[in-house]
Amino acid sequence: MPVNSALNLAGDALTPGAQRSWWLREALAREPGSDCPPLDKDVNADVVIIGGGFTGLWTAFFLTEANPNLGIAVLEQDICGGGPSGRNGGFASGWWDELDGLVALYGAEAAVRACQAISTSITSIGDFCETHGVDAWFRKAGYVFAATAAPHLTVCERMVELAREVGAANELRPLSAEEVRARCDSSAFRGGAFMPDGASVQPAFLVRGLRRVLLERGVTIHESTPVTRLEPGPPAMAITPRGAVRAPHAVMAVNAWAMGWPWFRRALVAWSSYVVLTAPAPDVLKAIHWTGGEIVSDLRTSVRYFRTTRDGRIAFGGGGGRAGTTIGDSFTRDVRAVAEAAAGFRRLFKSFADVPIVDAWGGPIDVSPTHLPAFGSLFPNVHYALGYTGNGVAPSHLAGRVLADLVTRADSDAVRLPMVNATARSFPPQPFRALGAALIRRAIIAKDTAEEQGRKPSPLVEAIARLPRKLGYMLGP
Ligand SMILES: Cc1cc2nc3c(=O)[nH]c(=O)nc-3n(C[C@H](O)[C@H](O)[C@H](O)COP(=O)(O)OP(=O)(O)OC[C@H]3O[C@@H](n4cnc5c(N)ncnc54)[C@H](O)[C@@H]3O)c2cc1C
Repeated sequence: MPVNSALNLAGDALTPGAQRSWWLREALAREPGSDCPPLDKDVNADVVIIGGGFTGLWTAFFLTEANPNLGIAVLEQDICGGGPSGRNGGFASGWWDELDGLVALYGAEAAVRACQAISTSITSIGDFCETHGVDAWFRKAGYVFAATAAPHLTVCERMVELAREVGAANELRPLSAEEVRARCDSSAFRGGAFMPDGASVQPAFLVRGLRRVLLERGVTIHESTPVTRLEPGPPAMAITPRGAVRAPHAVMAVNAWAMGWPWFRRALVAWSSYVVLTAPAPDVLKAIHWTGGEIVSDLRTSVRYFRTTRDGRIAFGGGGGRAGTTIGDSFTRDVRAVAEAAAGFRRLFKSFADVPIVDAWGGPIDVSPTHLPAFGSLFPNVHYALGYTGNGVAPSHLAGRVLADLVTRADSDAVRLPMVNATARSFPPQPFRALGAALIRRAIIAKDTAEEQGRKPSPLVEAIARLPRKLGYMLGP
């Protein structure tokens, strides 16, 4: 049987990247927004922000909160939300499941502070939507971790135990198989954990809503405006093909594209991630009890994550994981990755066998050596946030607070978070980075697959999958 019909993929789903994500198409249809023409002359501003995703736009938002009179210019090479901010799974999730890395890096007290800051960001995203009339489907129904292999149960136990150890037992609770399946039923789910800190959003509605609010506040946004060079100055000079912005402060909010800038070349590995989307099937969702709006992921290292939509679809993320040296077609047009994501979906949701997958899209994820983002200042007047490692919806809100405070030199709790100006570990140089990433990805997927099938991974696969940790990176099993 051809792959297309075996996976029940509608024809268009197999041409990812031919159009924008379903989220963004919906958002643009609902509210195209006013024009933000490209920069076509030299101008001055107080702050220039490179990148019109969540990080750049939240930074602009918090700057307007701090000082409504600041002249802020946002330069975006595509349209605001054209990058991962308008394409992601829409999980606004807490960091309590990241405690092992946080505690190892920064100690228990600072780790808890960071988790609490993300909790505040999740609530604040909901408040922002409420206050500014942005209907981004914000719903805080919690995060279910669903074990699909025996070793995942041990991972879950460790996560829950660690939360208890740092005095946050309410933030991660164990779930039996029956409890997981009562929220979202799949025969593959063997147990898991529940984290109240989990909300879902329609990400493109959120990022385009932010854009609207910023324009109302007098922020200047230039779309279709790639920054080709940044001279730190001061003043900083952001140079684009038809003009430059000169400003005392610059903020780099370019996500995985940072890889192309000399300062960040070894700070990131860019991995692809893909989402597939079903046709609406509210009755089938009801039949599997998944009507509570929980966001759900499995506990594979090559994680699969899934959520529902208001009209009764499932958006399911997985596949991808291929590293690239530049942000090109492999991040948006990888038919194999779509087929992998679809196969994962079909495996977990057999009750959806007759529901077609009607859309698919992908994008780059900026994997950092710590699995956590880094915020800071490259120079006293040039600030950055990157390294979200596929978990940036809530953290980019926090990044916006931090970056705005770095620009205004506010002495705040946000700038005292442990990941602000922390010393970073680098990835190896090319070609070792790309070769290593490809080899390790294959081993991780082989290990995940073996475990899900109840087999023991071979010692070689196990050793390669665990190599990043052996080398001091906080990635992999
Ligand atoms: C398929 C997928 C699913 C994901 N799912 C989730 C999820 O469910 N939950 C979660 O928390 N995270 C998820 N993420 C990650 C999340 O989307 C990101 O971490 C988050 O959007 C980062 O926001 P950002 O503003 O830093 O980056 P972006 O949204 O990528 O914004 C950066 C912007 O900079 C622009 N840019 C780059 N270079 C230049 C330049 N030289 N000049 C001008 N502009 C430039 C880009 O065009 C882009 O619009 C997912 C990512 C992908 C790809």
